Amino acid sequence: MNLGVGLLFLLIIILTLVSAFYIFLIKKDTGNILKANYNTLEYSRNMLLSLDEISINENKSIAIFELNLKKQTTNITEVDEDIVTKKLASNFNVLKQNRNDEKIKAEIRQNIFEIMKLNMNAIKIKSDIAKQTAETANLWIAFVGTLCFLIAFNLLINLPNNIANPIKELTASIKEIANKNYSERVHFWHHNEFGDLAKSFNTMAQKLQEYHNSNLYKLSFEKKRLETLINNMHDPIIGLDNQGVILFINDQALKIVGMKQEDVIGKLATTLAVTNDLMKSLIINELESPKAHPMKIYADGKESYFEKEIVNITIKPTGEEQSIDIGNVIILRNITVFKELDFAKTNFIATVSHELKTPIASIKMSLQLLESDSTGTINEDQKQLIGSIKEDSQRLLKITGELLELSQLETGNIQLNIEKSSPYEIVRYATEAIKTKAEQKQIEISLEAENNLPNVKADPEKTSWVLINFLTNAITYSSENSKIIVRLKLTEKQITFQVIDTGKGIDSRYKTKVFDKYFQIPGSNKSGTGLGLAISKEFIEAQNGSINVESELGIGSTFSINLNIV
Ligand code: ADP
Repeated sequence: MNLGVGLLFLLIIILTLVSAFYIFLIKKDTGNILKANYNTLEYSRNMLLSLDEISINENKSIAIFELNLKKQTTNITEVDEDIVTKKLASNFNVLKQNRNDEKIKAEIRQNIFEIMKLNMNAIKIKSDIAKQTAETANLWIAFVGTLCFLIAFNLLINLPNNIANPIKELTASIKEIANKNYSERVHFWHHNEFGDLAKSFNTMAQKLQEYHNSNLYKLSFEKKRLETLINNMHDPIIGLDNQGVILFINDQALKIVGMKQEDVIGKLATTLAVTNDLMKSLIINELESPKAHPMKIYADGKESYFEKEIVNITIKPTGEEQSIDIGNVIILRNITVFKELDFAKTNFIATVSHELKTPIASIKMSLQLLESDSTGTINEDQKQLIGSIKEDSQRLLKITGELLELSQLETGNIQLNIEKSSPYEIVRYATEAIKTKAEQKQIEISLEAENNLPNVKADPEKTSWVLINFLTNAITYSSENSKIIVRLKLTEKQITFQVIDTGKGIDSRYKTKVFDKYFQIPGSNKSGTGLGLAISKEFIEAQNGSINVESELGIGSTFSINLNIV
């Protein structure tokens, strides 16, 4: 571009200089003619005229002649002109002495004609030179003009293309890059601005290609890795976005919902739930603790158990303070193996406790016979021994009873006989049952009950069992000669049964744990099973009631149950 424009500029300058030079030459030539020769002719003409008029007006003519001669003397330009002029001057001096001398006049005329001839010849020569110069100028201007025309024409044809072609190519390449075709390159390799532009563009395209390739490869590799990982997991997994659209689902999950991947991916889980019950149970009750209710699903050709966990996924976008919700992952943990083991354990406990119950009962009967004198008299030591065996077998019976209750609860074989029951009767039955035990520790059990309490909807046997358990614990963890209060009160639509003791109390960190199966507070009575309160909870909740404890370490505990009134 610079070269083209520069060349044009140079051509214009050359053309201007050549033209100016020749015009100057012609001007100089013609100027010479005017200045040197034309003036001489003028002076000569004036001298001739004044010479003719000498006889008429002598002095004036002499003065004019003298003036022109003087001018001529300073305007000598041609060879021999000075000799002739000097001759003219001397002849004029002679004429001035003798003004009527016709001979000298003729000589002067001769001299003037000679000067005129010299100058006319010079004019002719100079005019020829000027003509020559004009012709040469014509030639040169024509030559330089033609050259300029040819070069300018060439530039006219080529320069726009030289500029436009790379721009066209560049525009097309930019469009390709915009369409993510990062392998596109431009191919103009001139050593000019376009060359630099091409180089920069190609470098940019290459870097974009590298960036694109490395990112894509990395992303697709990571995606594959995650998909393989998720697919190889034994637990069913379903990923949803924050709108509830299914993003991924592994083979295990597909197996249990009985659908194909293409029918699930990208679909709204709620839409699928309309026709698929399992999907419905997977997406509902999201807030409910999944551990409480393992899901029973027919999978792998058998009934399987799954624990549902819904993990909410949030991310903090780069440079932002707030985390945003990007969806949920539903994980179904297959706990079938543990469930099977649990069933086996429950069955074993049920069988063992059931089988133990009869021999223990017969031991108890035998002991009663031994105690009575019908089988012979026994001394005091033997009586004491029989007493402790009775106590142990009673404890064994309690333990086997609790284990049996628990196994029935776990297998779902619990039989509730819910009926209209009097709270007073339930309490009376329970206090009667532990009367002897309380007496042994000189513990007084007092009843604080409101009058005319309504009946409750309850299984009286199971509720008494719970109260007996509360009272047994209260006696166990209270000191001798203390007092236990059994309180009955009406609270809204429920009756509250409370067993209040002033025993050792429960540390606040164990308060919720005491209702867990097999849990015993460290350092407490080891002879128990840790099942009593767990079974109590199950019994009460099965009757739509609630159970809780309030306790302070070293002050005492209050265990209570709430049952609905009729
Ligand atoms: P256990 O048969 O071992 O008594 P429970 O389920 O009845 O089992 O009780 C669980 C634990 O709760 C006991 O080990 C005991 O430490 C604690 N506990 C229950 N009742 C009381 C109470 N009235 N006072 C203090 N601790 C108690």
